[in-house]
Parts: sequence; structure tokens; C-alpha cells
Amino acid sequence: MSDVVDHASVVIEAAREDAVARVQAALAQAGEADCLGCGEAIEPERRAVLPSAVRCHHCQGEVEKRNRRPPATTLAGVIELMARR
Ligand SMILES: [Zn+2]
Repeated sequence: MSDVVDHASVVIEAAREDAVARVQAALAQAGEADCLGCGEAIEPERRAVLPSAVRCHHCQGEVEKRNRRPPATTLAGVIELMARR
């Protein structure tokens, strides 16, 4: 039994390391000089900390706001989720 658990731990750790490496590679890719949303230059401070940025701070915030899912644990959240279908 412990062999199975040990093997599972190795597989899970390898998958985690692979996922982290893929995210790090994606974040290291060059982004855009100008925002894909508004066309304005992406803030130098933003590009310094996130070279893969393709949107300015404002436009990225709007995208994240649009994509935010309401909690399905409240009636209002469930109604909003159902309305999006
Ligand atoms: Zn923008």
C-alpha cells in the first residue's frame, strides 16, 4: 500500500513541477508594447514585473471583472450563473 502512495506522490509532484514550469515559461514570454484592449502603451512598471502582459492595468482589470464568476453558493450567484447560459 505504501508503494502505491509513494508512486502517487512522485507522479503528483512531477505533474506539479511540470505545471509550474509551463506557467513560468508562459510568464517569461514577451508580451505587447501596446495594450490589445485600448491600444495605449502598457505601463512600463507593469511590463517590468509581467513581461508577458498584453493589456494595460485598466483593460486587464476589465477583462478579469468580466470573467469573474459569481459564487454559486448564494441565490444571486446561482441566478447570475444561469443567466449567462
Ligand atoms: Zn488598455
